[in-house]
Amino acid sequence: MNQICGQVKRSMDVIEEIAGKLGVRAERGRRFAELTSLRVGGAIDWVIAPETEAQAAAIVHELDTAGIGWRPLGSGSNVLADDRDHHYVVLNLSDMKGEVHIEGELVSVSAGYSLPRLCIDVARAGLSGIEGLGGIPGTVGGALWMNAGAYGHEIGIVTEKVRVARDGKVAEIPGNSIQWNYRHTSFREGELLLGATLRLKPDDPDHIKARMDEAKSKRLATQPHGARSAGCFFKNPPSGTVGTGKIIDEMGMKGERRGSAIVSPVHANFIVTEGENARAEDALALAEEIRERVRREQGIELEYEVELWRADPSTDYTEGKSGDESEERSSER
Ligand SMILES: Cc1cc2nc3c(=O)[nH]c(=O)nc-3n(C[C@H](O)[C@H](O)[C@H](O)COP(=O)(O)OP(=O)(O)OC[C@H]3O[C@@H](n4cnc5c(N)ncnc54)[C@H](O)[C@@H]3O)c2cc1C
Repeated sequence: MNQICGQVKRSMDVIEEIAGKLGVRAERGRRFAELTSLRVGGAIDWVIAPETEAQAAAIVHELDTAGIGWRPLGSGSNVLADDRDHHYVVLNLSDMKGEVHIEGELVSVSAGYSLPRLCIDVARAGLSGIEGLGGIPGTVGGALWMNAGAYGHEIGIVTEKVRVARDGKVAEIPGNSIQWNYRHTSFREGELLLGATLRLKPDDPDHIKARMDEAKSKRLATQPHGARSAGCFFKNPPSGTVGTGKIIDEMGMKGERRGSAIVSPVHANFIVTEGENARAEDALALAEEIRERVRREQGIELEYEVELWRADPSTDYTEGKSGDESEERSSER
C-alpha cells in the first residue's frame, strides 16, 4: 500500500513537472460530469489542456516515457465515462483550436477546433463536402477518431492528411492510409490526432449554406434539442433498412426511465440524463436493458456508438495503456 502511495505520489510530481516544463495547464479535481455532454461520470486524477499541436505531441511523449496512462478527450460528446474515480490523465484537447488555413481546396485545421464552427467557416469560403456535419457537436479530432457522419457526408471521405503525434513531434500521414468505416476508423489506441488537412470542392456559398440549413432543420425536427445526450447511443444494424431508433421506438421504449437516465421521447436511440447528480450507472443500465430487449425480441445485437470509458481500479499511474484495455475499447466502439 505504502509502495503504491509512493508510486502515485512520484507520478503526481512527474505530471506536474511535465506540465510545468511544457508550459501547459494541468488541473486536479475535475469530473467527467463537467467534461462530457451526458453530464455524468466520476473524478479524474489530472486534466492536462495543451493549446498547440507541438505541445500536445511533446506531452504524450513525456507521459509515455514515464509510463503514465492518458486518454484524449475533445468535447466529450461521444463518451460515457463511469461514475468511479479515473486514475489516468485526460488530455483535454478542446483548447487546442489553432486557426483554420484555407488554400484553394485544401483546409488545414487543428484537432481541438469545433466541427460546427469549421462547417460554417468553409461554407463561407465556398467549399463543400462537410455541410451535412454542421449540426454535430464536438471537435475535429473527435470527428476524425470515429469518422463522424450525417446526411450523406463523412469526415473521412474528405480527409487528405492527418497530423499525429510521433516520438514527441508532429508527423503527417496520408488520409488514404486510414480505414474510414461506419463510426469507426483504423486509428489505434494511443494515437493522438493533432489536426487534419481536408480537400473540399468549390461551390456557391449560398447553395452550401442552404444544404447546411436543411440538414440542421431535419436534425431539429427529429432529435432532442438542448437535452444532455451523446447523440445516437447505438449504431444502426449492419444489415436491414430499419434504423436502431425505429426498432427501439417500436418496442414502446420511448420515455423509459432508469433513475436519472431516460430514453428520449423525441428519438429512441438517444439516452438523455436529468438532474444535478445524474449517474452514468443509470444510463448504462438503461442501455443494457435496451440491448437485452432488442436481442430477445428482434434477434439483433446492438453495438454501442457511444464510447464507454471504464475506470479500471487496478490501473495506477505506473501503468501505461495496456493491450487488454485497447482490445476492450475497440470492441465497444
Ligand atoms: C446531440 C448530438 C448529436 C450527435 N450527432 C451525431 C451525428 O449525427 N453523427 C455523428 O457521427 N456523431 C454524432 N454525435 C456524436 C459526437 O458529436 C461525434 O462523435 C463527435 O465527432 C465527437 O467529438 P468530440 O470532440 O466530442 O469527441 P469526444 O467525445 O471527446 O471523444 C470521442 C472519441 O474520440 C477520441 N478523441 C477525441 N479527440 C481525439 C484526438 N485529438 N486524438 C485521438 N482521439 C481523440 C476520444 O478519445 C474518444 O475515444 C452527436 C452527439 C450529440 C451530443
